Amino acid sequence: MVEIFLTLAKDHAITLVVAATVVCIVASWLFFDLFERVRGTVGLSRLQWLGFAALAGGLGVWTTHFIATLGYRPDFAFSFDPDMTAASALISVATVGLPAALTALTDRTWLKLLGGAVTGAGIVLMHVAGMAALTNCGVEQPAAGAVPIALASAALCALAMALPERTRPGIRIALAVAAVSLVHFGLIAGTAIVPVGSEPSGIDRSILGFLVGIVVICLALSAGALVTSSSKLAEQKQREALFSNALTNMSNGLLVIGAGGRIDLFNDRLVTLFDIRPEGVAIGMPWQRYLANLAERLGWNEARLGRVIDNHTQWFALDRTTYLEHALEDGRTISVSCRPIMGGGAVLTYDDVTAERQAQREVERLAFHDPLTGLPNRRKFAQELEAAYEGRRAATLFLIDLDRFKIVNDTLGHAAGDWLLTECGVRMGRVCERGELVARLAGDEFAVLSLSCDEEEAAGLSRRIIATLSDPFLIHGRMVSVGCSIGMASTRDAASADVMIQHADLALYKAKTLGRGRNQRYEAGMQEAAMRRSVLEADLRGALERGEFTLLYQPLYRIEDRSVLGFEALIRWQHPARGFISPGEFIPVAEETGLIREIGLWIVEEACRHVRQWPDGIHVAVNVSPVQLRSEGFPGEVARLLEAAGVSPDRLEIELTETALVEDSELIAASLRTLRDSGIRVAMDDFGTGYSSLAHLRKFDLDCIKIDLSFVQTAPFDPAAAAVLHAVVQLARGLGVGTVGEGVETEEQFEVLRQAGCEVAQGYLLGRPMTAMQAYALCRAETRQNVRRALARRSAVAAV
Ligand code: C2E
Ligand code: CA
Ligand code: CA
Repeated sequence: MVEIFLTLAKDHAITLVVAATVVCIVASWLFFDLFERVRGTVGLSRLQWLGFAALAGGLGVWTTHFIATLGYRPDFAFSFDPDMTAASALISVATVGLPAALTALTDRTWLKLLGGAVTGAGIVLMHVAGMAALTNCGVEQPAAGAVPIALASAALCALAMALPERTRPGIRIALAVAAVSLVHFGLIAGTAIVPVGSEPSGIDRSILGFLVGIVVICLALSAGALVTSSSKLAEQKQREALFSNALTNMSNGLLVIGAGGRIDLFNDRLVTLFDIRPEGVAIGMPWQRYLANLAERLGWNEARLGRVIDNHTQWFALDRTTYLEHALEDGRTISVSCRPIMGGGAVLTYDDVTAERQAQREVERLAFHDPLTGLPNRRKFAQELEAAYEGRRAATLFLIDLDRFKIVNDTLGHAAGDWLLTECGVRMGRVCERGELVARLAGDEFAVLSLSCDEEEAAGLSRRIIATLSDPFLIHGRMVSVGCSIGMASTRDAASADVMIQHADLALYKAKTLGRGRNQRYEAGMQEAAMRRSVLEADLRGALERGEFTLLYQPLYRIEDRSVLGFEALIRWQHPARGFISPGEFIPVAEETGLIREIGLWIVEEACRHVRQWPDGIHVAVNVSPVQLRSEGFPGEVARLLEAAGVSPDRLEIELTETALVEDSELIAASLRTLRDSGIRVAMDDFGTGYSSLAHLRKFDLDCIKIDLSFVQTAPFDPAAAAVLHAVVQLARGLGVGTVGEGVETEEQFEVLRQAGCEVAQGYLLGRPMTAMQAYALCRAETRQNVRRALARRSAVAAV
């Protein structure tokens, strides 16, 4: 072996051997680069690259062989047969370059192995042909040695071609160079060169060298060109890889339609988005066919498909992007954008926006609905009202306020309150049969919007709402009744939605002041009244400090002997600008604002101050509003004032209306009990105007009832009123409760009361409200008269 190497080294010019090796490496690199291009292209360009690869491979081996031959036995003046030399080049291309290049066309390993093996054998064939081109010497090559070399060459080349694609190119190049070197040097080593003839014939070494040089230069230039284009190719490949990566991983479906109306590009997302069958979309497919396939997939009928195709045709012709959303039968929403391309075609992107739209809808729902009842909220209601105005539609607005909701919330807890509100919403929805909008505006405030201005219809609906909300609710086994008040306004009376809401608000306020459970339509003048009220409210705030209030006293007479028994304190407000203002006007305002608490204590204080100056048996009756009785410290405050004035509690009477007694009855009953326990007397005022329930008489432990003037004044000519008056007096007597007849203006009325058995009378006939001084004077006069009467009686007895 060592001997073989030594001989080879001796027989070869080492520089040319190195040059041959370099050429072989470069040619192999060139071949494998071209080989990759064959794999990466299709059609004609693939054929071209195949030809280049075959040439590079074949000529590379040929050149390597001849450079090495040029360096072989420099002592010999070889000459070469030009035909055979050319033929050896062709053989090399045909048996080495071509079979190797052809393996690029297959993915089958056995074919690659076969191609490689043929290539390996081709190298041997080329070598033999090359050696046969030597003209002035005989070449003796032992055939036996050639066989294992051919087999080894075939094996190396087969391996080089069949290695997996990801194998580094250097390994293949090394295998190829190894095969070429093995064949050349292996066969040369066993070859005997015998000179024949003295004159060399054919082309000599220098000419061959020149030819080989040209081929080498060609190969080198090709290699250089390829190096540049390879880096471009690599860049392009990288870009393509990036592009394809981006395309595959895009969240949108993509479809590119070329100028010819055929599909140029689409991505995987498009396929998964619509679950299209593999044959449903393809490069080169006309876009109409793709839409037809989509229609089949999504279950569209012919008509819908036609519409979709027409739409697409229109969008492609526009010079701007079209956006739209498709609601699919499976519940998904797909957003489509179609961007036409200059010169024809379009880029379509598809996006599944189902989640976004759902989230959007949810946000809208939350923004426009009340989370507790699920009803539209104030914002939504205002929007609908505005829409009615914008559309110039007639509408009626019902503002609904629950009457006794706060009590439920306070006594049964917030969970019960929440349930009640929800249930109210459900009940209202049930009675709004014409699709009226029911909304919850805030707390226990609801609203209904009906698209009609018909007054009868509106009255009917409001009655139905009141009725349904007045039906008791069963909460935790307890029957609870709330009821509601309604204020109504219509678009006819209001120029804008805001004004209409104001109107309904005013009407609601009126409904509440008239007593709950009512409906009230807005009437002209309410606005002005409200204005007046708010001015009144402002004036009322400083009236007490400014000393604008006074108390007048109206006497109460025993019917039996027409003697004064006490006085009812009646407040008067002397307004600096408006003059006298009736308590009927300002007391309700004072009650609403809570000012009544302060004013009420002043009344008690003032009444105590006066009653102290009157004769002992004379008492004072003070009107008290439910607001005062509901405030916790009231009984204690009254006791303190009585004590401070040094007035015995039995000289004070509290007057309270029946309606006031019924509201918040537990709280008020407790307050009244404390007052009564301290010795203060309690009278029920205006009996006959409210519930007129005798049950209340029992429940509240009253001392006296004041029969309203409407009964007293009608009794003389209305037998029914007289009968009621009789019955009430008798029943009261049965319960041990005293009776006062109010508003007595005539002797007949006085007489009716007397006959009915009523004990006390009050009215203009007997005495108008008077100042404390006048009351005092009246008491003094009474006393003098009594003394006179007593003296007269005594002298009459003496005379007898
Ligand atoms: P009321 O408690 O029923 O008071 C009786 C009202 O009837 C008084 O009107 C009195 O002047 C009037 N009146 C008395 N006799 C006759 C009569 O023969 N014929 C007619 N037509 N009327 C008669 P006034 O003083 O205007 O009081 C009106 C209401 O204002 C009172 O009705 C009472 O509810 C309330 N009020 C008056 N003063 C006070 C007060 O100091 N505190 C509170 N909370 N309310 C008061
Ligand atoms: Ca009274
Ligand atoms: Ca009264």
